[in-house]
Parts: sequence; C-alpha cells; structure tokens
Amino acid sequence: MPRRKERSVCWQTGTGSGCDARGRILPMSPRRKNKLQIDLVIPVYNEAEAIDQTYADVRQVVDALPYDFRFIYVDDGSSDGTADSLRAICANDQRVTLLQLSRNFGHQAALTAGMDASQGDIMISMDADGQHPPALIPKMIDLIQQGYDIVQGQRIEDDRAASFKKVTSNFFYWLINRISGTQVLQGAADFRALSRNALNGVRSMQEYHRFLRGMISWMGYNSVILPYHEPERIAGISKYSLGKMVRLASDAIFSFSLAPLYIGLSAGFVFFILAGIQLVYVLSLWITGNTQQVEPGWSSLMGVMLIASGIIMILLGFIGVYVGYIFQEVKRRPIYLIKGKTSDVRE
Ligand code: UDP
Ligand code: MG
Repeated sequence: MPRRKERSVCWQTGTGSGCDARGRILPMSPRRKNKLQIDLVIPVYNEAEAIDQTYADVRQVVDALPYDFRFIYVDDGSSDGTADSLRAICANDQRVTLLQLSRNFGHQAALTAGMDASQGDIMISMDADGQHPPALIPKMIDLIQQGYDIVQGQRIEDDRAASFKKVTSNFFYWLINRISGTQVLQGAADFRALSRNALNGVRSMQEYHRFLRGMISWMGYNSVILPYHEPERIAGISKYSLGKMVRLASDAIFSFSLAPLYIGLSAGFVFFILAGIQLVYVLSLWITGNTQQVEPGWSSLMGVMLIASGIIMILLGFIGVYVGYIFQEVKRRPIYLIKGKTSDVRE
C-alpha cells in the first residue's frame, strides 16, 4: 500500500490547484487552467524488438486519460534499428520528441537527458522494455495531484528463482543502506513520477557520476512508494551488462559514501595498536632480561610486511578512486551530448 510520509491537503480540493509549503491552497496558475501536461521520459538502448509494442501499450493507457501527454524518447546510441523505429513513431505522433545521444552514455545519463528536456507539470520516467507497467500511470498522476512530489515505483520480489541479478541487487541495497547516510529503497526502480518541484531539484544536481535512485532519495520531499510486480521483458535481453551494473554500483557507493576510506583508516588504527602491543611485549622481555627470546623470525617479519603493505595499497586504491571521481567532477564534463532532435526528423 502507498505510504504517506507528510501531511498534504491538496487532494481535498480536487481541482488540480497548487499548494504552498504549509499545504495552503494557492490560486490556479494560468497553465493549470489548461490540461495538465505530463511528460513520459523513456530511455532506449537497442530495443528494436520491443519499442513498437511498448509504445502501443503506453498509448493505450494515456489516450484514455484527459491530460496533455508528451513522449520524450532518448535513444542512447542504439545500433540495432531502434532509431529508425523511433523516427517512424515520431513522424506519426506529434506528441513524441526523440533525443538522440551521440553514443551510448548509459541509462542514468539518458534519463538525465530526458528529464532536462521535460517541461511538463509532471514527469514520469519508465523503461522501454515493458517492465514498467503503463497501467500504473493514472495512479502515479493521481498521487502527484494529491500533493506528493515523488511517486517511487518499487519492484515487489516475486517467487521467481533467485537469479544472479536478484542476489547481487539485494546485496547492493543492503550494503548501500549500511554505509551511506542516504537510504535507498530496496527494489526501487527508475519508474517514478516527479512533480515540477522535485524535477527542478534533480535538475539542479549536475554531478557526473549519477545514481538517480540515491539522488532522489537524498532530496527528501513528500514521497510515496508505489509497489508493482515486474513483468518479463517484452523482447530482447537486458541492456544492463555486468560491467554496467558494476559501474552503477560503484557510482552509487563512491558518490554516496565515504565508508571505503574509513575501512582503510580503521585497519590502519588496528595495526597501529597491534604494533604498540608488540613493542610493550618486546620491551618487557628486555626489562626482565629474557632477550634470548627475541628471535626476529623471517616468516613473521615477512607476514607483517605483506599485510601492512596490503593495507597501504588498499587504502591508496580507495584514495585513488575518490581522486578519480574528484578529477571527473572538477572537469564539469557534460553528462551527455545530443546529436539530433525530433524537429530534425519531421522537417
Ligand atoms: N538503457 C539505456 N542505456 C543503457 C542501458 C539501458 O538507455 O546503456 C535503457 C533500456 O533500453 C531500458 C532501460 O534503460 O529501456 C532499462 O534497461 P534494462 O531493461 O536493460 O535493465 P534491467 O531491467 O535489465 O535492469
Ligand atoms: Mg528492463
């Protein structure tokens, strides 16, 4: 069941009026006199087999709703004919905008490009493979109209056998929630609706290494969880390769937590204490005249040296990762580059 975290009274009006931070009803803005404008942001990478079907499924839901919908498809450097399918969709439906990234920048960057292009009152992000049920769109809109700023889709674990992805994903959420100050909902998906307010919040975060689920949770705001059962992909295979999954997890861990630095630091302290204990022991042998027992053993010496250098290397590695991240952040490199827009196609 959806959970309410904060009080909001907008839902009582039923008029679509806005409300201020205290929940007081504000007069309708000029835009609100028209239909509510809702942008669907859909990142796509090599989904040629699925895209027509998922577009038709989304249309079936949104065409029955009394809102002004826009589709923002972001082609994340596809190489399998996805771009042609999207151009055809675009040419037949004036509500569709197609952004083509200059190469494959990854899911999070593609989502960012779509969110940056969104100008609606509500933005809904969803996958192009049919795993985010369009039937939930009306419920998402309804919750935003009730006064929530964030409607976060959450995958409900089903009885499907524990796959590698499921096990690693569960471990990842367990870990990030232990070591980071920002709580990330287990099973949170990039299937969510954001109010204009919340969208502006995300857009103000210009970091290069992006883990949107964490960034959105970090923002706070009035949010609600919308659980759903994830259907199988309509066609094709997951576009999240093992490498991409590892990169996302490392982006999340290193950009939301300083814990890896502290592991090295704590290990350093432990060895410092052990060295102190050893010093006291050796001194006590000297004081009591048992110096013949102080036999410097080659193996123990080597052992300590190896362990100590191992720790130093791990520590340096962690520092290296953070330095690398700082290096990329200070360059303020763009998160994505667009090579074409819908208007290019229509004209
Ligand atoms: N995707 C993308 N760029 C990528 C990888 C994936 O835009 O580099 C898109 C993909 O087409 C889909 C969504 O992101 O619409 C989620 O990817 P996928 O379904 O492969 O992930 P999974 O559901 O397996 O976690
Ligand atoms: Mg998927």
